[in-house]
Amino acid sequence: MDLNYGSPFIDRLTKFLDRSPTPWHAVANTAEHLERSGFIRLDERAAWSLEASAAYFVVRSDGALVAWRQPVDVAGWTIFGAHTDSPNLRVRPDPVVKKHGYFQLGLEVYGGVLLSTWFDRDLSLAGRVAIANEGAVLTELVDFERPVGMIPNLAIHLDRDANKGRKINPQDELPLVISRAEEDAEMDFSETIARELGRSAAEISAFEICAYPIEESQVIGLEGEFLASARLDNLLSCFIVSEALIQNDAAEGTMIVLNDHEEIGSVSTGGADGPFLESILRRATIFSDFERVRVNSLMISIDNAHGVHPNYASKHDESHRPLLNEGPVVKVNANHRYATTAITQGLIEQAAERADVSLQYFSGRADLGCGSTIGPLTAGRLGIDTIDLGCAQFAMHSARETCGIKDPELMLKLLTQLTKRDLF
Ligand code: ZN
Repeated sequence: MDLNYGSPFIDRLTKFLDRSPTPWHAVANTAEHLERSGFIRLDERAAWSLEASAAYFVVRSDGALVAWRQPVDVAGWTIFGAHTDSPNLRVRPDPVVKKHGYFQLGLEVYGGVLLSTWFDRDLSLAGRVAIANEGAVLTELVDFERPVGMIPNLAIHLDRDANKGRKINPQDELPLVISRAEEDAEMDFSETIARELGRSAAEISAFEICAYPIEESQVIGLEGEFLASARLDNLLSCFIVSEALIQNDAAEGTMIVLNDHEEIGSVSTGGADGPFLESILRRATIFSDFERVRVNSLMISIDNAHGVHPNYASKHDESHRPLLNEGPVVKVNANHRYATTAITQGLIEQAAERADVSLQYFSGRADLGCGSTIGPLTAGRLGIDTIDLGCAQFAMHSARETCGIKDPELMLKLLTQLTKRDLF
């Protein structure tokens, strides 16, 4: 039997998924991997002197990253993009609520969360904390690494209609239960964070903390064909694009961008609708005319695609039903919610043929709205031809998502072919 348990690639992928409960952890882990692989960290506030054939990266605001292999005279960049954030529940600034004998944390919904999937899970907390530093601010990552609370479901005996189309009020039904509270007990959440960091509460200026399911990712299925995990959208793609850059040390002129805030519209300093990528592209295009290089560049935006769900197959157009483990999905939308054009699809078709990777296609039902990605925003901001690709998955935006075990490596194979730049 061809089981994938123990594949070194999948092992590293699952470790990355499990150790990256927030966008800031995903970027820190990617930065560490890049540094171990010889990439040099640059500070955006400093002057740079770039050398051809060296490899660099820049982190912005902890949640976004650009890395590249510096070419001598670049004809055009090959850029792989993905996003670091996932829909989740985030702790409010003054979160502690004491009600009916329990301490709870007030949460806000970040992005398009499939809310019902967060109930009855063992939840932990992780995020970044601003530490006061003589007028400046340092950020430090925190991860509680143990289940510290849950959002219990209501027993079916107390809600007989629970299985008949349940509505969830996010204000009233999501506060996280974290402990019993004696009548005169009080809790200061800054103190709780300070204790985790080994600091004093006075040092904590502010925080951005996410709840996350503690359950580790796992290979599942009778034949081990699937991978179940939190945050597959879109840490799966972050991992694949980083691998494509790191593993291919001859890939000069290849760049990756990991944007933050895609799930909430991408408008931020590290988001795809901000200036981050353009600013780095301009600084890294040192030996050539930027405008000429820009129009010769290709952006490949990678974000997971909806694999057809066998119980709900009618939710897909009948001719566009991607399956798990059948290869990368090309995402097409006439209204440009995906950035794919006939030109960019034509290039990818040829790259896929050379890499011996088969492609699948997604085009949504005409009577259903379509999601989007960083692809159209990047194409629009930079004027760089772009294609949207992704691995097929089930249950997008659930607390636990599932993809095929083979697709990540098939996508990597395709991206490796594209780093050769032998097509455009
Ligand atoms: Zn996504």
